[in-house]
Amino acid sequence: MVRIGVAGAAGRMGSRITALSKEYEDIQLAGAFDRKGHKDTGRDIGTIVGIGECGIQLSDSPESIIDNIDVLISFTTIEASLDHARLVSSKGKALVLGTTGFGKEHIQEITALTKKFPCVMASNMSMGVNLLLKVLQDIARVLGDGYDIEIIESHHRLKKDSPSGTALKMAQVIADALNRNLDEVAVYARKGLIGERKPKEIGIQAIRAGDIVGEHTVMFGGLGERIEVTHKVSSRDTFARGALRAALWVHGKSAGLYDMQDVLGLK
Ligand code: NAD
Repeated sequence: MVRIGVAGAAGRMGSRITALSKEYEDIQLAGAFDRKGHKDTGRDIGTIVGIGECGIQLSDSPESIIDNIDVLISFTTIEASLDHARLVSSKGKALVLGTTGFGKEHIQEITALTKKFPCVMASNMSMGVNLLLKVLQDIARVLGDGYDIEIIESHHRLKKDSPSGTALKMAQVIADALNRNLDEVAVYARKGLIGERKPKEIGIQAIRAGDIVGEHTVMFGGLGERIEVTHKVSSRDTFARGALRAALWVHGKSAGLYDMQDVLGLK
């Protein structure tokens, strides 16, 4: 039995992780918290997420639950996630980190901290996207430099970071497969008289509209043909189930930074 704690448990992702945790025989929901002063603090988390009373109250501090859990799952904000990583590190627990938008300095800190505890970090916890990352690598290698690569991602209007962590990961995987430095070839927007497309550019464009849960299309545009690979998510539950699967997997692993490819055995 793995005892989990959910950070941001009243949020869009946290609430689905909390609700779905009840479906897993080998997972016990042992704690849930959200930010300081959250309006639902003290209420039963089961009632908040729509699964009926479960006897666990929403806390507003990670310290109040950390000793009772094995794995913390955090889909929150960058600052909160870093705090959670530091706390997990000091307590010798495990972490599943789904928050997106980290900068290089944040990743460096997380990488250093995870020398002390096991952590699964992934900007997309769905099976489909992680499988696609593998496939994209193969397509890029076979096609080589003759095809123009464009990544188009669409998300709901409330998403804070752009482009999505998934689009960036896709771009990184493709850049690595083609021996390109992503910092040098990524193009995030085009406007004005900017001249012809440079052959090695990797375009990454972000759409924000309505309630789109998450869509990614990778286009390989050649002369006379074009390959488009699209992944669409229609429910956040696909990410939530991925996070719960990661929590089961990471419990008892040795210290280090892992991703969903490790969890799904795709490496
Ligand atoms: P949300 O705003 O609905 O939820 C975030 C929750 O975190 C809120 O309830 C907020 O109050 C809470 N929070 C803020 N500060 C906190 C703190 N210090 N301690 C505890 N809780 C705190 O957002 P969301 O749509 O659930 O997304 C959350 C993050 O997860 C985003 O970065 C998003 O991009 C990412 N995300 C990742 C995946 C994935 O598969 N990895 C999938 C979907 C979303």
